[in-house]
Amino acid sequence: MQLENIGKWKVFAIESGFFKLDGGAMMGSVPKVLWEKTNPPDKLNRINLSLRCLLVDDGENVVLIESGIGQKNSKKFKKIFAIDHSEYTLSNTLSKYGYSFKDITHVILTHLHFDHSGGAIYYDENRCSKIAFPNAKYYVSKKNWDIALNPSPRDSASYLKDNYKLLDESNVLELFNDNDDILNGISGYAVDGHTIGQQLIKVSDKGSTLVFVSDLIPLKSHLKLPWIMGYDLNAALTLKEKKIFLDEASDKNWLLFFYHDPDTIAVKICKDKKYYKIINEYRREK
Ligand SMILES: [Zn+2]
Repeated sequence: MQLENIGKWKVFAIESGFFKLDGGAMMGSVPKVLWEKTNPPDKLNRINLSLRCLLVDDGENVVLIESGIGQKNSKKFKKIFAIDHSEYTLSNTLSKYGYSFKDITHVILTHLHFDHSGGAIYYDENRCSKIAFPNAKYYVSKKNWDIALNPSPRDSASYLKDNYKLLDESNVLELFNDNDDILNGISGYAVDGHTIGQQLIKVSDKGSTLVFVSDLIPLKSHLKLPWIMGYDLNAALTLKEKKIFLDEASDKNWLLFFYHDPDTIAVKICKDKKYYKIINEYRREK
């Protein structure tokens, strides 16, 4: 779907497929009787998640945020995570809006967990790793890159080096510091509760701002402050970071773009008695 422009940037939601994760792990300490209403589980207790990349284009730079889960995963891996490319693939959705992998000039990865970085590299017919976006520079925060090479045992199963080690070896990797400007009004917003060095991505121009909220707020349900993933390395830090972020987002009328919510693409919020209320919502066309 094409969203409202952010100043000079045209904005596209690029659906690249779906997968599933354990509902309890996604909702942390929230009881199932509460979350199953908004996020119904399958018989294995898994809930549906999208893999929705963001593309912004200012007529000169074509910037893709996240790369999807990719096509190189094994049969077993696809089964465990119920990876589903039957409705959308990254290449089909890009071409729907007139883009190909070759047109992408910048790929920004918020962090290197497999569901965000898996599409950065593909295997050719001889199972050799190849760079998926041949004309792009790839941007990752320095802090997250270092962690991805040497992850904590708690999230090491999410850092699969085949998804990114070639980036460095091929000289296409640009490491940036927390909160750095990346280009023309696109910058990082550092949060460390989910994993060290994750950067939300802010796109700002002419007074409007969109933020790609990645795994700080994976689903619309996580707009409620205590709804925090069991996956997070530091849930107390996520809570603190989320409150600061959502207060600023409601004060400044930011558009929040979801990677993982299967039905809601983006929202604007305002403060409510308890938490936050949605005042504007883009929903996925079905
Ligand atoms: Zn993650």
